[in-house]
Amino acid sequence: MDKKIDKKLHALDPRFRKKIEDMFSAMNESISMLYEAATHDEKTGLYNNKFFESVFEMEMEKAQRKQQKLCFFIIDIDFFKKINDTHGHIKADEFLKRLADVLKKQLRKYDVAARFGGEEFVILLPNTTAPKAKALTSRLREAIKSDPVLKKYGITVSGGLTCYKEKDNMKKLKERADKALYKAKNAGRDRFVFVD
Ligand code: GH3
Ligand code: MG
Ligand code: MG
Repeated sequence: MDKKIDKKLHALDPRFRKKIEDMFSAMNESISMLYEAATHDEKTGLYNNKFFESVFEMEMEKAQRKQQKLCFFIIDIDFFKKINDTHGHIKADEFLKRLADVLKKQLRKYDVAARFGGEEFVILLPNTTAPKAKALTSRLREAIKSDPVLKKYGITVSGGLTCYKEKDNMKKLKERADKALYKAKNAGRDRFVFVD
């Protein structure tokens, strides 16, 4: 709490002070909950697409000003419709959350992962070169393959990776990652493809 407010509160009757302190604490809690709801995806706990877009814009600007490298990828669960049909939507939702947790564990502090929508995820890797991003895709694959739940139910993913090039904008980067994802799907799924 602000020092000035704290000082003024201390001059009050203790019972009245307690009421005000409780009110402040409830307000802080509500603000935290609102922030969480506005920026995160409820089902997976990852960031939501709206928040992701605003981070993407900022990171893109940095890349354009040549301050840093930037890589981006899209991940899509393979045959998720069939997984729903086989195991039901509730179980399938658990797989979404499980995958989100596995992805999150492999990422560094400044990487940003979000649920793009449905069974699709996006990951932004600021300050990351293409070889490093490719190495990360291998680690992600290994983590997905070795997760006991995802392994048991045969959950696989396809991913499209691309990195910032001169004169790129957000749209171009997204289109290339999407193209890479389609290549991964067409090549038989369960793989990551890099498009330069
Ligand atoms: P592909 O390998 O080509 O990606 O096949 P797919 O079946 O994953 O792709 P498709 O786009 O045909 O189907 C996506 C499915 O994902 C359809 C939809 O029912 C399911 N889905 C989307 N969002 C959710 C969700 O929040 N929960 C669950 N359980 N299923 C979802
Ligand atoms: Mg999809
Ligand atoms: Mg899919």
